Amino acid sequence: MKHFQSLHLIKNHTISICLLCGRRARAPLCPPCQDFLEQRCRLPATLCRCGLPDPAGGCGALCGRCLKQPPPFTTTHCDWRYDFPLDRLITAYKHQGQLYQERAFVHLLAQRPLPWAQADVLCPISAHWRRRLWRGFDQAERLAHLLAPLWRRPVLPALRRQRATAHQQGSSRRQRLRNLHGAFTIQAPVRGRRLLLVDDVMTSGGSAREAAATLLAAGAAEVRVWVLSRTC
Ligand SMILES: [Zn+2]
Ligand SMILES: [Zn+2]
Repeated sequence: MKHFQSLHLIKNHTISICLLCGRRARAPLCPPCQDFLEQRCRLPATLCRCGLPDPAGGCGALCGRCLKQPPPFTTTHCDWRYDFPLDRLITAYKHQGQLYQERAFVHLLAQRPLPWAQADVLCPISAHWRRRLWRGFDQAERLAHLLAPLWRRPVLPALRRQRATAHQQGSSRRQRLRNLHGAFTIQAPVRGRRLLLVDDVMTSGGSAREAAATLLAAGAAEVRVWVLSRTC
């Protein structure tokens, strides 16, 4: 796996090289790296409502947490586990601002059809403006705009994060949920609409729950979630 170490050296996005191994390739990911990513990260087709692998292995069963506290959204659509090597691409993208990594995401996403045919709009789970300012971009918004032409659905930035939530890692689940309560306000009419929430990574699912609850309280007909990857 030595060739994966060259990831950070790949700066030039104009030449055709695989974003994971740096070898010449016709696509942003070469076939061996794409196969490797598929083997390591592909989630099973049937997931719990929260995006975790279905505990009953495909019978549509809910996980323990969803049984206790069903999420306000109907379904989570996700193809990839947040694991090596996809996590490398996402980290380089998000935390090092390597926007050309998007080519790999587009390459992966172009192979996937719109998971919910009835969706009216794509709604990014946007970051707080301060985080966006610090990072220089909003990854959920950029993903929504990458998906829009592929899935032929408009982007509706209906949610505004009104508090910068502290980094959630390390805090207890109860604390995390308390931090998120009232985290979003509505900034576009959503009554009667079917919204597909878009985000890059789902971890606890707290933000998606809060976002969906806010949209449904504002009259949305249905909310589902699409995330590029899921920690599990
Ligand atoms: Zn490769
Ligand atoms: Zn669940």
